[in-house]
Amino acid sequence: MPIPTETVGSLPRPLELQEAYEDLDQGKIQLEDLQKLQEEAAKDSIQRLEQTGETYVNDGEQRESSFATYPLTDTLAGTGLADNLAGDGQFFAIFDDGHDRQLPRIVSGPFRYKQYASDFVKKNKQDASKPVKQAVISPSMMMLLYPLDGEIEGYPREQFLDDVVDECEKDIRQCFEAGAERVSVDFTEGRLANKNDARNPWTGKDMLQEFIELNNRLFDRFSSEERRNIGIHTCPGGDNDSVHSKEVPYEKLLSKMFQMNAGYFLIQCASEEDKEEVYRLVGEYSRDDADGVPQVCFIGVIDPLNPEVETAEEVKDRLVTAAKYIPVERLGATDDCGFSPFSRDLKPAHGSPDFARDIAMQKISARVEGARLASEELGV
Ligand SMILES: [Zn+2]
Repeated sequence: MPIPTETVGSLPRPLELQEAYEDLDQGKIQLEDLQKLQEEAAKDSIQRLEQTGETYVNDGEQRESSFATYPLTDTLAGTGLADNLAGDGQFFAIFDDGHDRQLPRIVSGPFRYKQYASDFVKKNKQDASKPVKQAVISPSMMMLLYPLDGEIEGYPREQFLDDVVDECEKDIRQCFEAGAERVSVDFTEGRLANKNDARNPWTGKDMLQEFIELNNRLFDRFSSEERRNIGIHTCPGGDNDSVHSKEVPYEKLLSKMFQMNAGYFLIQCASEEDKEEVYRLVGEYSRDDADGVPQVCFIGVIDPLNPEVETAEEVKDRLVTAAKYIPVERLGATDDCGFSPFSRDLKPAHGSPDFARDIAMQKISARVEGARLASEELGV
């Protein structure tokens, strides 16, 4: 079988759409006005992705406030926040360029999504002629909505975590029911869990193992056949062309991450200094049998934060080298991250989000072609 390819999830939103999100926050437009632009951008994303030759397509998350908050709020500023949440939660991440992203905070039970990713899948299925994938958020990210210390009166932590796993399971099942063929779970908090950033207390609490165990409660609810098409994405962040945890030694995560019983992994690598060491670690720690399913390792061969477009030849070389360490039947090709996980992302290194959108398509095309060349060279 040729080396498979897959996107992580997001594409830069057109500047006009980004401004509409802000106009909604300021009461200048109605939700329907925003939705009209979201639909246009979603259709355009699908159409252009299909032209790149990508196997699975989606809307590039054009309708989502962010990869983490789509179930909870219509905009990053908290317009349309779900029940039982307040806007002033803890930092999810503080990025290297100094900007931060904050999560909402759960104030009482029960915890319920106000929007499921299957809503997007249903629409995307209507517009796509190719198979559809969808990214969803992890239990371990949702866990950070609960106060780090202490308990909410009347809503114990354990009960909250039960609700989180239930909602995440429902999110994934509904995506498949709506026709998605692949669902990947975003796990950007994995590498950040070892950062020990004094400004962001949860990163100093050694929570990685807890994250993994919570996420396995989710994976345990799916059969091995189902888990073949349920993935995990790891990265050091990617927002406004900046990262949040690239300096955290990768082995701390990679030595543990494959304990999660997912069927595939979308693994940032193109932006690493020593890519070969990452291939080696992935080869060492990934498993042929994760509770009945082989772990297919999609290596990041494209850097979405860098406007320079990788050539298909470069992609090919990276994959051929990776195949020295990872069995080729468990090797795939992906991007290091989504191209714009948050709805407000001006892509400063690119000059504009509209230009970054064009660049993203060129990069995805190069990845698809590079994977084809590598498959040819490796005889698969
Ligand atoms: Zn990412």
